Amino acid sequence: MSGSVPLICTTISQIRQAVAEARKSGKSIGLVPTMGALHAGHISLIRQARQRAGFVVVSIFVNPTQFGPTEDFARYPRPFEQDVALCAAEGVDLIFHPAVAEMYPEDYQTFVEVHELQKGLCGASRPGHFRGVATVVLKLFNIVLPDLAWFGQKDAQQVRILQQMVRDLNVPVEIRVEPTVREPDGLASSSRNQYLTGEERHQAPAIYQALQEAEQQIAAGERDPDTVRRTVLERLEAIPGLRVDYVAVVDHQSLRPPKRLSGRVLVAVAVFLGTTRLIDNVLVEVDSNPSSSS
Ligand code: AMP
Repeated sequence: MSGSVPLICTTISQIRQAVAEARKSGKSIGLVPTMGALHAGHISLIRQARQRAGFVVVSIFVNPTQFGPTEDFARYPRPFEQDVALCAAEGVDLIFHPAVAEMYPEDYQTFVEVHELQKGLCGASRPGHFRGVATVVLKLFNIVLPDLAWFGQKDAQQVRILQQMVRDLNVPVEIRVEPTVREPDGLASSSRNQYLTGEERHQAPAIYQALQEAEQQIAAGERDPDTVRRTVLERLEAIPGLRVDYVAVVDHQSLRPPKRLSGRVLVAVAVFLGTTRLIDNVLVEVDSNPSSSS
């Protein structure tokens, strides 16, 4: 672990120059895109990047184009100094922290959409969200020109969309995906967990428990996606104060519901606890020869 303060760049020309120098000295470039309010999930991505890349860039940018008009852009936490200290402790080389106007000048007008994969799950309840995500990530790739970039499986649809974007647009970046980091009680780490009241925080681990129930049901031989979906839904609906946004049981590549479960299946949920929207998922490898079948 290095304790030195990372270089902080706020403009595109500054970061281009710093990265070009690192590359000239023979270092590979690793990028971890974040919106800040760093937690254990982000730190796990940063540690992987530190292990694999010669020069580690963490971007901290609360991207307005991925928030809907009624969402939490204004109140999203921005503890920048704390984030810098965490990055310093993890040996990050450079933090890219641009202002909104640096990324989206007044005459900005270009957006990227991954049409099929953005249709369901979070894309259905957050119109325009993945257009904003794909656009900002492609911009970050073009600004930083990383060899490798790290993302979390917690945002499973985001990962699939970015993989597809990189493939479709021939972006020369290797996307690395890391498992979801959880709090000791199973709740997926998230910058939004800090919005929860004491009571909501107490109820929140039930989200992952519902997903684990789906895993167990599939392991026991259940192959009907609707049955698995209903189990998770019923489990979530039993939690007072929780409102289900969606429960999806889909193929992990196409993100579409299969007729019967096989291969790798993504069980993904989004819920509101009070006003806070939380997402979580599990990837289940479906055994092609279940011991019991339904
Ligand atoms: P965010 O700051 O929420 O945009 O997240 C930045 C990156 O961290 C994304 O690639 C997320 O998928 C990843 N991430 C967020 N939470 C977790 C988590 N609990 N475990 C692993 N990765 C995460």
